[in-house]
Formats: sequence, structure tokens, C-alpha cells
Amino acid sequence: MIKILASDGMEKGAVAALEAKGCQVDQQFYDPEALKEAVKNYDVLVVRSATKVRVPHIDAAKEAGKLKLVIRGGVGVDNIDVKYAEENGITVRNTPRASSQSVAELAMGHMFACARFLSIAGHTMREDKWEKKAYAKGIELQGKTLGIIGFGRIGQHLGVMAKAIGMKVVAFDIFHIPGIEEQLGINYVEMDELLKESDFISVHAPAVDGGAIINADTIAKMKDGVCIINTSRGANLDEGALLAALESGKVRAAGLDVYASEPAQNKALYSHPMVSCTPHIGASTVEAQKRIGQEIVDIITKQFNL
Ligand code: NAD
Repeated sequence: MIKILASDGMEKGAVAALEAKGCQVDQQFYDPEALKEAVKNYDVLVVRSATKVRVPHIDAAKEAGKLKLVIRGGVGVDNIDVKYAEENGITVRNTPRASSQSVAELAMGHMFACARFLSIAGHTMREDKWEKKAYAKGIELQGKTLGIIGFGRIGQHLGVMAKAIGMKVVAFDIFHIPGIEEQLGINYVEMDELLKESDFISVHAPAVDGGAIINADTIAKMKDGVCIINTSRGANLDEGALLAALESGKVRAAGLDVYASEPAQNKALYSHPMVSCTPHIGASTVEAQKRIGQEIVDIITKQFNL
């Protein structure tokens, strides 16, 4: 019998499908120390973002010789020491496509929030304030330019939606996908042009080693009154630089789902009236979770010929 530990939980349809194939699925979170013992008893470890799979866990699993597969239900695998796991014969997989539309829709939601004060207006109404005049200077998205940094799966979903509501879309990516301009009706541009031309900038690149993509230098090159959205990784945005730019008015508003450290620590930023924020819920939709669950079932089925 294949034994699966889902340490950050698993969608119930996926649990049922795996049990129907004769697997045992245990849903139990272990702290990092206890996880070292727990992994010894399982063939498969399924994690989301809370569980970190580091060298000591891989060493413990290797010593017991049972663990063959680690699956991250989601996109980034930064919570797993992938190279070390694979060097030790443990396959690491993720579910990269399952949540793209959900994350793109959240980025779009933050764009609407930035344009129309949705976050702060709702907040002040809950304090019994009727601040109609304060929120009178909304803007439309139609006709504005959206700059997408990182034009992969999520960036492309966002580009398609933004086009549908009448935005002009420009994109910068370190890799150019031939033919994508014609296919999606967007323009590939250099980073500096994107920064200069965009009314909204949304980041969809993985966390990069070279430091934050959105920092004081890149903000200085942006249009006055730009709106910045980050649903990628907290490390891609210098929170201090963003806060300073919000305070000076250089940046009109920001929409954030990811933070330098999580739970978010920078209260001045996340409680700023022109910041629309969510607690890293980009992939947290019913549909994305179902797709993630199905992909996990498919990966396990294939690996063990179930
Ligand atoms: P993807 O790999 O499909 O696309 C990322 C793109 O970024 C690639 O085309 C790559 O070439 C490009 N890129 C890499 N470095 C770059 C750089 N320095 N400048 C410009 N482009 C660069 O990934 P995806 O599935 O679209 O995910 C994008 C991001 O969203 C990742 O950081 C991922 O971790 C994050 N994400 C967040 C959530 C959430 O809950 N908020 C959920 C899923 C994914």
C-alpha cells in the first residue's frame, strides 16, 4: 500500500480518489523537528507552503529508504531543497498550471481595487463613514496600459483578461516566446520602456537572486501615479521603497498578495490607505484547489503505476 503524508492538507476529492486506488492518506501537520521522524514512514510527501522540506528531512527519509516522491501542491518549490532531494533519489514535482487563472484574477481584482479605492472605501464604511468625496477620483482600467513583468503562465492569463476590458498590454520577460505577440495581441518591450509607459505594473516573475525587481530605482523610472501589483513573491518588491513612493504620491496605489516575510510584518505598508492587500491567497480558490488535487492524483498514479 502506498502511504501518503499530506502535511498541509489535501482537497477532499483528491483524498477520495487516492483512497479508491488503495492508498493511505494521512493529513497531519508536523513541526520541522517532528517531520524528520514522520517522513520515514511514507512513500509520498505532499506539501503546500507551510511545510518546509529541508536537508535534515531528506537525510532522515534517505536513512529509512521509503520516501520516493515529494509533491508541492502549487507553483513555487522554494520551500523544498529540490536539488538535494533529487540527488538523493527523491523525485520532486509541483502543479504549475492549476492555479494560474486564480492568481491572475486576484491580480485583476487588486487592479480594480487600486483604481476605485475598493479596499479603503469598504474599510471606512465599516466605521460608519460615508466618504463619497474622498473616493471621487477613481480611474477606469479601459484605455490604460498594463505592464506585465514575467510573461509566463499567470502573466499570460492576466494579459488576456486585461485586453478583454480594453487595456493596452505590454510585457517584459527574460525569455521571449516566439509568436506570442500575434497570438495574444500584446507587445514585448524592454524593461525601461515598460516602466516608462505603464499605468499599472503587475509582477509575475519568480523570486530572482539579483534582488527586488520593484525597487527605488525602478520606481523612479515609472510614470507618476502608477499602480503596482505584486502577487508573485515578496522578494520581488522592496517594501520600504514602495511605502516611500506611496507617501510621496509617486505611486498612486498598490495591490499586494505576497510579502517580504509572511505573515506580513510591515504594518505601515499593509495598513496604508492606498494599499489593497490579501494574505497570500492567490491560489486559494475552489477551482484551483480541485485542479491541484487532480494533478496530485495524476502524478502519484503515474509514479506508482496505480
Ligand atoms: P512561470 O514560470 O509560468 O512564469 C514566470 C515567467 O517569469 C517566465 O516566463 C520567466 O521567463 C519570467 N522571468 C523570470 N525571471 C524574470 C525576470 N527577472 N524578469 C522578467 N521575467 C522573468 O510562472 P507562473 O506560474 O506564471 O508564476 C509566476 C509567479 O507567481 C511565481 O513567482 C510564483 O511563485 C507566483 N505564484 C504566486 C501565487 C500566489 O498565491 N500569490 C500562486 C502561484 C504562483
